[in-house]
Amino acid sequence: MARLTLKQRYRHIIDWFVANKGIQQTELAYANDFQLLVAVILSAQCTDKRVNIVTPALFEKYPDAETMAEARYEDVLELIKSISYPNSKSRYLVDTARQLIEDFGGRVPESIDKMMMLPGVGRKTANVIASVLYKQPRMAVDTHVFRVSRRLGLSEGKTPLQVETDLTANIPKQYIADAHHWLILHGRYVCQARRPHCEECGIYDWCRYVGN
Ligand code: SF4
Repeated sequence: MARLTLKQRYRHIIDWFVANKGIQQTELAYANDFQLLVAVILSAQCTDKRVNIVTPALFEKYPDAETMAEARYEDVLELIKSISYPNSKSRYLVDTARQLIEDFGGRVPESIDKMMMLPGVGRKTANVIASVLYKQPRMAVDTHVFRVSRRLGLSEGKTPLQVETDLTANIPKQYIADAHHWLILHGRYVCQARRPHCEECGIYDWCRYVGN
């Protein structure tokens, strides 16, 4: 069989996800824009599951930017200490809340560049927020999206930004936000880093890793 073209690979894989996974939501629990920002900052180098364990108590005490901006670092640290990098993250949360109040009227800004001015918010976090909150066609490339996209043959990018550029150029706009979740969940549960479960993978037929 002739090797798939890049266009065919994208089309088959996207069609499969649309038919089998449909609209996707983030697995992070949150009740308002600020809480999503907090949860995404906390999720860097940490699992969503662990983040969802600590955020109920955190959000009970600091439900919005106003309350978090008044918090002491050590009180926030106490609530998030089971998360990776709790010292830096407790500072990011309080400083971000303060900057939101001072510079953005307490609202999470829509622009990626403005979001990236907030402490603890890099390009990946900003893309997640823009995609989930503001429905912008943005592809946040985390470790799962990076690995799965390269294994599938959707990108040969050597950096997250190169993979982001390839995915954004080739996935139809209306599916970019969903595709972010499809690839993350696929990486988390099927195409795992150490052992991809190719035998139970629905997109096996279009995956370059297994020779297609
Ligand atoms: S076939 Fe294997 S390597 Fe390819 S996407 Fe599926 S699990 Fe990953």
